Amino acid sequence: MSRIIATAAIRGAHGYMEQARSQLHQAVETYGPDKKVEFPDTAYFLPLTLALTGQEVDSLAKAQAALDRAASLLPPIPDETRWLPYLGHTLDAGVATLIAEEIIEVLKYVNGEEPEEPWLGFTGDATLRLQGIKLVDGRMPGFAACVGALPTNEEAVELARSLQERSILVFMASNSDGKSMAEQLAEEGVEMNWDTFLVPYGKDTSSAVLALNFAARAAMTFGGVKPGDFDAARQILMYNKERVFAFVLALGSDYGPSSNGHAKQLLTDEKYATAAGAINFGFPVISDVEIPQILPRGVCTYEHVVSGIPRDQIVTKAVEVRGLKLKMSEIPIPVPYGAGFEGERVRKEQMQIQFGGKYTESFELVRGRPMDAIQDGSIELIGPDIDEVEVGGALPLGVVVEVAGRSFKEDFETVIERRIHEFASWAYGVFHMGQRAIVWVRISKDAYEKGFRMKHYGEMLIAKLREEFSAIIDKIQVKIYTDEQALQEPLEEARTVYRQRDDRIKGMIDEDADTFYSCVLCQSYAPDHVCVVTPERLGLCGAYTWLDCAASFEMNQHGPNQPIKKGTTIDDRLGQWQGVNEYLEVASNGNLERFNAYSMMEDPMTSCGCFECITAILPETNGVMIVNREYEGMTPIGMSFSTMAGQIGGGVQTPGFIGMGKLYVTSKKFISAEGGIERVVWMPKVLKEEIRDRLEERFAELGKSDLLDKIATEDDATSSEELVAYLEKIGHPVLSMEPMM
Ligand code: SF4
Ligand code: ZN
Repeated sequence: MSRIIATAAIRGAHGYMEQARSQLHQAVETYGPDKKVEFPDTAYFLPLTLALTGQEVDSLAKAQAALDRAASLLPPIPDETRWLPYLGHTLDAGVATLIAEEIIEVLKYVNGEEPEEPWLGFTGDATLRLQGIKLVDGRMPGFAACVGALPTNEEAVELARSLQERSILVFMASNSDGKSMAEQLAEEGVEMNWDTFLVPYGKDTSSAVLALNFAARAAMTFGGVKPGDFDAARQILMYNKERVFAFVLALGSDYGPSSNGHAKQLLTDEKYATAAGAINFGFPVISDVEIPQILPRGVCTYEHVVSGIPRDQIVTKAVEVRGLKLKMSEIPIPVPYGAGFEGERVRKEQMQIQFGGKYTESFELVRGRPMDAIQDGSIELIGPDIDEVEVGGALPLGVVVEVAGRSFKEDFETVIERRIHEFASWAYGVFHMGQRAIVWVRISKDAYEKGFRMKHYGEMLIAKLREEFSAIIDKIQVKIYTDEQALQEPLEEARTVYRQRDDRIKGMIDEDADTFYSCVLCQSYAPDHVCVVTPERLGLCGAYTWLDCAASFEMNQHGPNQPIKKGTTIDDRLGQWQGVNEYLEVASNGNLERFNAYSMMEDPMTSCGCFECITAILPETNGVMIVNREYEGMTPIGMSFSTMAGQIGGGVQTPGFIGMGKLYVTSKKFISAEGGIERVVWMPKVLKEEIRDRLEERFAELGKSDLLDKIATEDDATSSEELVAYLEKIGHPVLSMEPMM
């Protein structure tokens, strides 16, 4: 253990402790000790402090108590000449630092200092959950906390791109000599937000704590670790070491010599102290600056601090030191490619050309064909290429992917087709939205100038689909139609196929199936969670229907979707079967004995965290409300979506609350044990509009078309009193239904 680092880290910790203490003192003087303290949109108080100490800090007085506790961990600043053989003191100083930093960061909110562009500040629980699914399904292998800046803007962009290309989430904080990586990216016009995997927290070094506070919440939310004592804190740190593949990039060399001729010391005591905090999570520190290394293994899986790495090798080094498992595909296209580009938009001014949307006709179709009908690897463009259209123009687009394989089945087509969105939008400079005949694609000028043409659009689909579905695809070819006339015939075929597919799942009912499917994809984060997917109830994330699970099982027998034989029926009305219970007991690691598919009140399904909606009981109304993830406002139950999500996620059964997919709302089996859709008394306007057609159809089927208008929205009520008054005024029949509880 290098004494220089130990001394610097402990000195930095003392500095932060002082700073937190004096700012807290100031705040108490101004607002009084009972003043509420909170980050926006979280149910975890000060998440890191909660994780490390079990204390629920919600007032200035409690913050003071937490800080006192942190101070008790803080070792004295060692004499630089004394040799410290153990990491222990430095690690304790790191923990104290994180608590102090979290208090410093939350005080900014207490003082009404909202983060300014480009900074995003604290990550709310809703975002945490949404992004969690990407860690769950492997779209994000881990995250990098970038602390400081690069010598030039170009190098900053290069570093960001090379992390994005590996689908690594990038958190940015702190600065080097007043400059920060996020500001460098902003100056170069790089889009930074959660969708592009580039998340700027704040310019102070203390804001790096927000990355660790995200990690701590991941363990509590998805890992189901309940905060509390020392042992819980250890579990939270272990969860991160084992499951969250993160590392710190401490940046700051090459800023030229300072006035005394030495290289400027850009790794400050504050940074050492913060790094010591990160090491507690098992997150190693990689630096381009020559600092003493800490190589022995112990807390981290491999080395703790690796330094003096040339910047063009820093990402590969980090991946190696953290032991990240990366699947990088070689895609023969002239632009960077990776999941980090999936959420990137192409704005009108940046656009070379667009297809579909409200401008032209467009569609995507995957079809299985006989083996000899396919010329493997061929890409045929029928119509003009991008360079034949003026800048900012539009073309129609039909993409027909034809595949053949000895074990290919028609049912697989939709599963493959659904992946086109992902694989098209992973290309830098390509924006893709929608599916089937509502596709919208934009290609940026930048991508165009780098040489991107329609041929490459085909190349990337072929490469990715071949890689992903190697077990079932032996041959693949792509036809791209950009000619209006030529596109009509395949579009007709596509429409017919879409209709046939819809009819197939629509006609299916649970009673006809003797087998359901499980999905345990989310267990990598919520270890006890199991989705039981039936023909009439899709997975709660909305992404997996029964047909999809069946196809996915056929494609990969050892995958996350397993068939469950229903066995004897235990209760028809509740939806409980012997076989399902038995499966559940095993798959939930013995934590669940029973499960009712059609009830939200008695042994309902567990929720992992990535549900599209929550249905919650409103006892005063004798009905239920449904709220979708996109709705940020208050609901009649007195909680926002994210607060509620925080309480029902993590893989436990919460009677009265279920997480679910949007499609399930209009299923005949939607809480049928409690009376079904007639119980719904409130939903946000956006949701109501989004699924209006299906709602109309469902209510008409019940002969109760008037109920649709009787569902209140935020315009009618946002509290339970208002809602009850509203329901009484309009005479909602739910008031006289059998009591729910
Ligand atoms: Fe997770 Fe369930 Fe969706 Fe599978 S179906 S990905 S377990 S939410
Ligand atoms: Zn999930």
